[in-house]
Amino acid sequence: MATGRLSGKNAIITGAAGGIGLETSILFAQEGANVLLADISTEAVEKAMTKVKELVPNANKVETVICDVSKEAAVQVMVESLDSWGGVDVMFNNAGIMHAKDDDAVGTPEDIWELTQAINVKGVWYGSKHAILSLRKHKKSKGSIINTASVVALVGSATPQLAYTASKGAVLAMTRELAIVHAREGFRFNSLCPAPLNTPLLQDWLGDDQPKRMRREIHFPAGRFGEAIEQAKAVVFLASDDSGFVNGQDFVVDGGMTKAYVTPE
Ligand code: NAD
Repeated sequence: MATGRLSGKNAIITGAAGGIGLETSILFAQEGANVLLADISTEAVEKAMTKVKELVPNANKVETVICDVSKEAAVQVMVESLDSWGGVDVMFNNAGIMHAKDDDAVGTPEDIWELTQAINVKGVWYGSKHAILSLRKHKKSKGSIINTASVVALVGSATPQLAYTASKGAVLAMTRELAIVHAREGFRFNSLCPAPLNTPLLQDWLGDDQPKRMRREIHFPAGRFGEAIEQAKAVVFLASDDSGFVNGQDFVVDGGMTKAYVTPE
């Protein structure tokens, strides 16, 4: 049995098969949580579970569920499936997309706008809503909900993905309000704001295009993309009782990018 900073906590991670989701699943299991890995991709989430079990042989419960977070009924079934574990303690609303057809105000197709808001914004709302209902149902005096936003919710980007940027701004604002509304119930809500990372979401899109890469890398004080594991470590902190008085924060893990004026040579 793994024990650690998340011992005794039941956690759901959405987008669990992706870059940040998988690293977080591994750390949550290592820290003693019972973890439900949720993703829209059956094959990918099964592979993720195998990896977690391989890397954390003494893990507690590690299970998977297929869930499209943009569908409320699916999110409800997912969260209620943890009733048999004693209800949810930690909800990491992390699933998100950045669509290849997302563009500027003129070029973004409306269906891409709708799809992006459905997954990135409504998905976070549904996850938060059903986590609150579960926490109340199981009479919990504390809970931690972490919602993945992005640094593009904080700084403008000259390479437009307007639907994505708007969606992440919404995550930030929604999370802040949820934090205040539910503070006296003991339910904490924080946003995670990752910098551009070495995960498939971004790296597949950048490909071998060096000028496209340089337009980003020049802004990184640390001179590199972030790693998913660095986000996962922050999520463990936000999920654990170590962050018991951290609430409503835009928790930025970006190597200093959003605080930089000029970067080192
Ligand atoms: P990723 O593409 O590696 O993983 C995303 C996962 O979400 C995938 O496994 C995918 O199958 C799943 N998913 C997609 N649509 C879903 C849906 N409707 N329901 C359930 N699951 C769904 O991405 P990542 O880099 O790990 O990103 C995770 C989060 O971090 C996203 O919200 C993303 O916007 C955000 N983020 C990423 C970066 C970056 O540079 N990678 C930067 C800032 C923020």
